[in-house]
Amino acid sequence: MSQDAPILIIGAGQAGATAAATLRSLGHDGAIVMVGGEAHAPYERPPLSKSVLADEQQDARIGVHAAGFYAEQGIDLRLGTTVASLDPARATAHCADGQALAFSHCLLATGGRARTLPALPEGQPRVHYLRSLADARGLRAALRRERAVLVIGGGFLGHGGRSRAAVAAARRAPGVLGLAGATCAQPRHRPAPGLRHRVDPAGRQ
Ligand SMILES: Cc1cc2nc3c(=O)[nH]c(=O)nc-3n(C[C@H](O)[C@H](O)[C@H](O)COP(=O)(O)OP(=O)(O)OC[C@H]3O[C@@H](n4cnc5c(N)ncnc54)[C@H](O)[C@@H]3O)c2cc1C
Repeated sequence: MSQDAPILIIGAGQAGATAAATLRSLGHDGAIVMVGGEAHAPYERPPLSKSVLADEQQDARIGVHAAGFYAEQGIDLRLGTTVASLDPARATAHCADGQALAFSHCLLATGGRARTLPALPEGQPRVHYLRSLADARGLRAALRRERAVLVIGGGFLGHGGRSRAAVAAARRAPGVLGLAGATCAQPRHRPAPGLRHRVDPAGRQ
């Protein structure tokens, strides 16, 4: 392991972007490389289920840092790059595109992903998972044209009173239905106005 090699941050989300900024603010002046599988510079996800669903102008306002921040701070941001495997013994990360990235230290900030339902795979027309900016854009477009929407997931994102996913859907489609799964017998948050809530008595997800 070379101490001259960069600190490698895998995952260009809020955690990765904040960690990179913190390293600089604490005085680390060595190389930092941050790789992210998405095409977008690090952004905050909370607006994806709220303001972004209502307003396209918000897409450009949700960055964790201003657009020029990474270049100014000497943070080598590589977007659209997915790390496929790690070789800790050789302190090297291997990317899906064939790049090998040496590191002195590696920070895994790979976050989470939406739990998919086998019967509703991603990529099907009319099925929208909500995790990324690309997902929110697709859902925003769909909410403009659909009259009835089923929200699956009775937690904070799908059901909560501030969630635009629920609010926007309920406004457009009187027949909107919130469905809580087996692990959420009753929603923990007040439903959005106009949202009808149903718990499957059989507890099916
Ligand atoms: C729609 C929505 C609304 C939310 N609203 C709220 C809210 O109101 N309040 C709240 O507290 N929290 C909210 N959250 C949760 C909050 O946004 C997350 O806790 C936060 O995004 C976690 O940040 P993270 O950087 O750890 O992970 P993530 O945001 O998941 O970022 C991880 C990044 O790493 C990338 N990545 C993963 N694997 C690899 C790899 N192998 N190679 C390269 N890149 C990789 C991913 O593509 C992703 O861009 C919301 C989440 C969503 C999806």
